[in-house]
Amino acid sequence: MTETPAPATEVAPVALPEPTTSRPAPGELTFRAPRRGKPPRHLADFSPAERKEAVEALGHKGFRAKQLSTHYFERLQDDPEQMTDLPKAVRSELVADLLPTLLTPIVQRVADDGQTMKYAWRLHDGAIVESVLMRYPKRVTICISSQAGCGMNCPFCATGQAGLTRNMSAGEIVEQVVWAARALRRGELAGGGDEDREEPLRVSNVVFMGMGEALANYKASIGAIRRLTDPTPDGLGMSARGITMSTVGLVPGIDKLTAEGIPVTLALSLHAPDDELRNELVPINTRWSVDEALDAAYRYFEATGRRVSIEYALIRDINDQGWRADLLGEKLNRRGRGWVHVNPIPLNPTPGSKWTASRPGVEQNFVERLRAHGVPTTIRDTRGQDIDGACGQLAASTA
Ligand code: SAH
Repeated sequence: MTETPAPATEVAPVALPEPTTSRPAPGELTFRAPRRGKPPRHLADFSPAERKEAVEALGHKGFRAKQLSTHYFERLQDDPEQMTDLPKAVRSELVADLLPTLLTPIVQRVADDGQTMKYAWRLHDGAIVESVLMRYPKRVTICISSQAGCGMNCPFCATGQAGLTRNMSAGEIVEQVVWAARALRRGELAGGGDEDREEPLRVSNVVFMGMGEALANYKASIGAIRRLTDPTPDGLGMSARGITMSTVGLVPGIDKLTAEGIPVTLALSLHAPDDELRNELVPINTRWSVDEALDAAYRYFEATGRRVSIEYALIRDINDQGWRADLLGEKLNRRGRGWVHVNPIPLNPTPGSKWTASRPGVEQNFVERLRAHGVPTTIRDTRGQDIDGACGQLAASTA
């Protein structure tokens, strides 16, 4: 990672968010999001059939829903003046009702020679969430948030420490991707050495690895996945294979996702192969154990044929021992071969954290031990660390 100076672009005055929930006690889990004012409804909250109904309920012809969808999902249009196939009066009413502003950018930061962009957004009620857009040689990935805050209380995670403010709507989740797609079209993401290319870059991958536990906000998250994968103009027309749903291991949520039959990639944040340590690192483990989470992940693989990712933040002297790599390898192999790969990532210490990343030699040993078990293992890169890029830190430093 290059050390690009990262000036923070203040896009609008930073408003303090409304008071959020208090910090959770260690190990305390929050499943039900606090009730707050609902975000305005948005086209991207709805299936194509629901959009038609909404448009008709406003007294307009049903086909206007398709026109609106084409502007939003296909043309990525954000200027109502350009929606000239909609008569003016109709347009202002439909735009006000179905395309309200959901995200206001408050901070944009650039890192990695312009190949990484991080956004902090203010939602309608002052809650702050974030997204990170990353350019790689053959793909462009956006890491999105699905909740303001998180109720899962993992002690090494900045978001987990702040508690759950509220669930995001499908529209708010999708809008992060649409915003990124527009930024790419304007050529705002650098790197790659092909700036003279004719076609603008497109978002190829979406990972639910920003703030929140998406499976705890199931309905909105699955709605967002439908909007991302529905062919244009009903949705953005992305490949499900490019979408990664990351979870602490909410077993009923994983099983529900399995039943949807959408072949997104599942990532399980394991971080420890034994219940004793995982109970501490990922408190949901006290409800669904390591074995139960791995079984659910395996069922997901069996149903979709998609290889599951195991996330493992390597924390110095906590979970990085060779015997834990062996135990993990054994537990994965006990269920089968070729169904899983492991993504260790050096811990990105949160402010005030008593924990830090594993030493490089220890990290390498952990990887080699897993590989010796025949488990494909690749260290995940740590983009944008110098801009609080990882794990809820931009929102935390903004709030
Ligand atoms: N709720 C989802 C998404 C969380 S963020 C989940 O738990 O999977 C995505 C990944 O980043 C998770 O694997 C999470 O455990 C990991 N993560 C959180 N804080 C981290 C930190 N400080 N350093 C490294 N990884 C971290």
